[in-house]
Amino acid sequence: MSEPAASPPTKPRLVVGIDLGTTNSLAAIRAGKGARVLRDRDGEPLVPSMVCFHPDGRVLVGREAKALRLELPDRTVFSVKRLIGRSASEVAAEARRLPYRVVAGERDLPRIRIGDTAWSPEAISARVLQQVKTTAEQALGQPVQAAVVTVPAWFDDAQRQATKDAAALAGLDCLRILNEPTAAALAYGIDGTQDGTVLVYDLGGGTFDVSILRIEDGVFRVLATAGDTHLGGDDFDLLLADRILAALPKATAKPPVDDPFVLQSVRSAAEGLKIRLSDATEAELQLDLGPRGTATLRVTRAEFEGAIAPLVQRTLDCVQRAVKDAGLRLEQIDDVVLVGGSTRVPLVRERLRQLTGKPPHTEVDPDLAVALGASIQADVLAGNDRSLLLLDVIPLSLGIETLGGATQKLILRNSTIPTSVTEEFSTGVDDQTAVDLAGYQGERELAQDCRLLGRFKLRGIPPMPAGLPRIAVTFLVDVDGVLRVTAREQRTGAEAGIQIVPTFGLSRDEVRRMMLDSIEHAQQDYAAREAIDVRNKAAAMVRGTQKALALAELPPDQTYAVHKAVKALDRLLAGSADAAALKAGCDELTKVTATIADDVISSAVTKALREEEGR
Ligand code: ADP
Ligand code: MG
Repeated sequence: MSEPAASPPTKPRLVVGIDLGTTNSLAAIRAGKGARVLRDRDGEPLVPSMVCFHPDGRVLVGREAKALRLELPDRTVFSVKRLIGRSASEVAAEARRLPYRVVAGERDLPRIRIGDTAWSPEAISARVLQQVKTTAEQALGQPVQAAVVTVPAWFDDAQRQATKDAAALAGLDCLRILNEPTAAALAYGIDGTQDGTVLVYDLGGGTFDVSILRIEDGVFRVLATAGDTHLGGDDFDLLLADRILAALPKATAKPPVDDPFVLQSVRSAAEGLKIRLSDATEAELQLDLGPRGTATLRVTRAEFEGAIAPLVQRTLDCVQRAVKDAGLRLEQIDDVVLVGGSTRVPLVRERLRQLTGKPPHTEVDPDLAVALGASIQADVLAGNDRSLLLLDVIPLSLGIETLGGATQKLILRNSTIPTSVTEEFSTGVDDQTAVDLAGYQGERELAQDCRLLGRFKLRGIPPMPAGLPRIAVTFLVDVDGVLRVTAREQRTGAEAGIQIVPTFGLSRDEVRRMMLDSIEHAQQDYAAREAIDVRNKAAAMVRGTQKALALAELPPDQTYAVHKAVKALDRLLAGSADAAALKAGCDELTKVTATIADDVISSAVTKALREEEGR
């Protein structure tokens, strides 16, 4: 297909690709034929997906947050991708492993509690996305408003929707939610010019995904996906952390270790050890926990491999399942592509090579591949490249509950999206005028074993004998994998405008409310901050002036005037004076001291103020 060559030139729209990772996030942009990641001023592309709420009111994101992880373990939020779009009960077991507090909020939504504030996972992700956005804007020298954001292939409807909400909160127009493995294949230059079948193996910090892609006539089709949303490099860290804990003095490691500082230090040390073992066959660790003792440990790569082998095997089982789901045999795979920081572990590469019989591609940095690929898709959506078409699949079957608590699947797992399926149902009781419908996701036969997506009611059915009404139920999954369900009684045309709002996510209204809240609070936060600053300044002035008064030999009338002003300000400080009153008090004191010829006082005050700021 060719397009007329002389189409009018349009200004290219700026759309970045964002890999919103469990562990690290980053943005990339398409540039000419290639793509490049967007780096901060230090040349670093990865933004650790971490947010730290400092007790002094600052909110730090990325590397700054990661640096405070040891100091403020219960105020530094990470791995929030494990919580987003899920219920508090679902994530309860996981939350117990996290050093920060996860509580159940309204409608069983998980909330991260820091001090008196409860944050939604969406709000935390939004902070990370904002940081990625800012980094991208600095690198590009212009504002970024739109993005393609990637998610693991196994993310369900609610998780995708929650990710979109996070993007909206960050002020980003999310043009498309894209599966990470699909993005990665694009990054590996699998650009559709050659037909073939590709296996994408993505082992990150917190998730594992494998996808089988078929490329035909320039069209990308995801034939199948499999994976484990709870398997990644973090689990390797935990295994090494156990060994480190065992090497700690008994008093420190006495189980359960409930000291967040010790746990965090051990986890960080474990990750460092693991990364070194990717290059060296042996690594040593000396972890100094101050008064809590020191752990000295030597681990060989062979020992490490022995420990992680069962986890690696689990990923290989998923690989085999995906290949089978795609209706293929391993020999029919043309290319194997590696994605995710954890694919740097030699055992992972080796085992995958043994299983597939071919060496995996490693040309692209596995940490950057997803963002690079997302930027290629972003460019397509920006309207700059029309040569590429992506089709994704549904990770889990979608259906409704039928009589007796069984499920009837309307859209089968691995169906290509967008897709829409309509099936007819009827009533089970005479003269039934309303029908309750419940949408489920999952492969199991009983509704109770599947995941409830939402419930709704179709009303206005005219009284008829059971079995006569013809109710057409339509499941529609759009290009983002978001599900809409409608039901219609065919004889009468009675229709219910029904939409499944994800059970575990934010509604449109909530997103809007949160956005308004954040704007409102921005002012409050600023005012609170200003009040603190003025109070500190006033206290410093009082101290400085009193000190100077004691030293300087002033005429009695001047001493009296200064003393009076200091006293007044001190009283304001002791009471609950607001910022404006304190400011007026400071100004008054400044005025009085300024009239004094002797500059002893003003210089003493200035010095005190400077000390205050230097703290
Ligand atoms: P995610 O997709 O979950 O955000 P990444 O793809 O950024 O994760 O991978 C992060 C994981 O990769 C972490 O567990 C990290 O420890 C691990 N990792 C990074 N570099 C190496 C390495 N050289 N050897 C082993 N693991 C590594
Ligand atoms: Mg990743």
